[in-house]
Amino acid sequence: MTNEILLDIPEFHEACRLLSKRQFGESMSCAEKVLLLANKEGSIERAIKALHFIVEINNTQGRYESEKELFYMSLKHLEEILTPSISIYPNEYLWETRLKKVETLLLLEKYEEAKKLLLQCEAEEALLQTSTERRIHLLLSFSELYYLQNEYDRATHYTRLSFDLLDYKESKEGRLLLKVYAQAIRVCLRRHDHRRIQEYGIRTVELSEKYNDEERKFIGLNAIAVHHGSKYDFKMAMLYFRNALNTSLEINYRYGTAYCLVNIGTIYANLYNYSDALDYYTTVLGEYGDVLDNNTGLIILNNIGNIYFVVGRLDEALEYFERSLNLAESINYNEMRAHTLAQISRALAAKGVYNKALDYAFQSERIIMETGDREGKQINLITIGDIYYKLKNYEQALNYVGRGLVCSKEVRDEVSEIRGYRLMSNIFKEKRDFEKALEYQLRYSEAQEKYAMAQRNLQIIDVEIRYDIQQKEKEIALLKKYKNQLSAQHEKIKEQNKQLISANDDLMQFAYAVSHDLKEPLRMVGSYSQLIQRRYEHQLDSSSDKFFYFVNEGVSRMNQLLDDLLKYAIIGKEDDQNWERVNLAEILRITKFSLKLVIEESGASITSNTLPVIFTNRAYMSQLFQNFISNAIKFRGANRETIVKVRYEKRIDKHHITFEDNGIGIPQEAIRRIFLIFQRLHKRGGYEGTGIGLSICTKIMDRLGGRILVESEEGVGSKFTIVLPERLPGFLEENNGTPSFLDEGF
Ligand code: ADP
Repeated sequence: MTNEILLDIPEFHEACRLLSKRQFGESMSCAEKVLLLANKEGSIERAIKALHFIVEINNTQGRYESEKELFYMSLKHLEEILTPSISIYPNEYLWETRLKKVETLLLLEKYEEAKKLLLQCEAEEALLQTSTERRIHLLLSFSELYYLQNEYDRATHYTRLSFDLLDYKESKEGRLLLKVYAQAIRVCLRRHDHRRIQEYGIRTVELSEKYNDEERKFIGLNAIAVHHGSKYDFKMAMLYFRNALNTSLEINYRYGTAYCLVNIGTIYANLYNYSDALDYYTTVLGEYGDVLDNNTGLIILNNIGNIYFVVGRLDEALEYFERSLNLAESINYNEMRAHTLAQISRALAAKGVYNKALDYAFQSERIIMETGDREGKQINLITIGDIYYKLKNYEQALNYVGRGLVCSKEVRDEVSEIRGYRLMSNIFKEKRDFEKALEYQLRYSEAQEKYAMAQRNLQIIDVEIRYDIQQKEKEIALLKKYKNQLSAQHEKIKEQNKQLISANDDLMQFAYAVSHDLKEPLRMVGSYSQLIQRRYEHQLDSSSDKFFYFVNEGVSRMNQLLDDLLKYAIIGKEDDQNWERVNLAEILRITKFSLKLVIEESGASITSNTLPVIFTNRAYMSQLFQNFISNAIKFRGANRETIVKVRYEKRIDKHHITFEDNGIGIPQEAIRRIFLIFQRLHKRGGYEGTGIGLSICTKIMDRLGGRILVESEEGVGSKFTIVLPERLPGFLEENNGTPSFLDEGF
């Protein structure tokens, strides 16, 4: 059910990228373009997939912004495909559309309707001879359905089945595996089944990083954190919750953010850092109330009440316990009702309101008896004992505290145990049974000491965590500073580059215009000077011949200069289209032909090894050969035969073409200079030329992505080598990397 058939549309990639960053509006406008394109092409399959993708965007946005309207929009889109009057769609596409509808119905909490459709999908799936991938999506939908209906055993059953279908080591199915892992984690968390959660968490983080899936990365990080938390390794738990928090903040996943803030608050509470715990809890209540589910809300209210109770702010504690009780009653959550009633009773007892306290405690006990739940029972029993003690009813006090102590040991509630021992000792003191009082006093001291030590250790961890966070924050601030500096510099360089490119373009335009436009007036000067010379030949004296010679010389030199400048200016104008297979042997033959006169005049011999056919620009190759060979002949040595050797060599993925002569050579210190435009080492008259030839070669090599190497010894000869990267026909210049895309998520 991946969107493979849309992969060749660039807008689709962009839409996926934006969706993974949770930029919904932008992602949607790209997706709409994809749909438009598919419709234009008349491809039914592509149009359906594009619509599925639009549904995916709507559903994700709906989840993030708690916006039901968006789910209804998804339903509308899906109905368009499923309308029976249009039966032209291939069966498997209809099937996938139905499954998408199931997903949307689940988001709308229409469980019965979703289940009916899901069962229909299952029945049809057998007929479709469907792929493993489709089957896994089906199983995951079942898992999600039962998850949402709090039937975790069944939910687990279906995630297990999907695990069985996947080969764990099969990386090809990585994206699907990621979905299965993430779903398994969600179910395990609800079941408080922490056994495999770390393994799933680690794999989920790895895979989600590979596929840029931030929401599932959050699920993975969170799972690892919960694993550590369940082992009381608060440092590691804190580290992972903080990472998870950053991930959810980045994609503005408010539910995830709220969840992390609550857990971080709870870690602080466990570390006796009550002020930070309160901060986190109240932030969640204040800013994320809209995304909190009732269960989490209850836990927060209760924990806040508990903190206020522990620090002796009883009225505030009572206020939060009352809020918690109201919520628990409104959603019929009996376990929490009993627990909160017990808490209220404790707070009232601490305030000295004993009768009312007893009343609450008995209400709590009744519920506990009815539900058979043991959790929290010990607190209530000891509280009742405490109240009887305060009311001086020592027999009842002994009875309840004794039962409470048994329960405390069962559920390993050390705080209740300590409270119980102390009460026991006090009760026996009142009964003047000092032997028993001493026994419980000793137990109390022992347990208290153990507990205090554990508490001290946790307080140390709290400080360690604070220190770690401070260091991290410092690092982050520093990194941010560097990043800002870097991006400022980057922007500056980009701007300068832009200016440079435009300045360069202007300059080339200018050089082109100048060399082109100056030729016309120059021709006028030349022809009129010849006209004057011819027409007034008899009236002019003998020295005027010399003057006319200078004028004509100047004109022809200027002409040459303008021609060369023009050649230089037009390099790069339209070279990218002109790539072809070029036979270098042919290029050499043509060059020799066009230099026929100078070759004959100088008696130069030009040799070469076998020259191959390479993929390049023909005009550029001609210019390079022409320049290097004509220079080799022009700057030939006196009193020796002129020999020019052209050699080709392939080195790994580079073409090396060498032009070697036995001419006058170039002084070492001048080698850099000869590549500059208009730079020549000789006075006019010695050797003809304009000093542009090598500049043209350099510019061409820049365009071809190559370079020129020079070796030369004065009086012995020079060797110019052009090094060209091998380019194959069809090679793509810009490799944008592997595209990242999302497919339908659950
Ligand atoms: P031009 O040949 O028009 O003078 P070029 O740009 O081609 O201009 O060359 C610049 C200078 O480099 C030449 O004037 C010459 O001094 C030196 N040069 C180029 N090729 C050779 C060579 N094969 N041997 C010696 N000197 C050379």
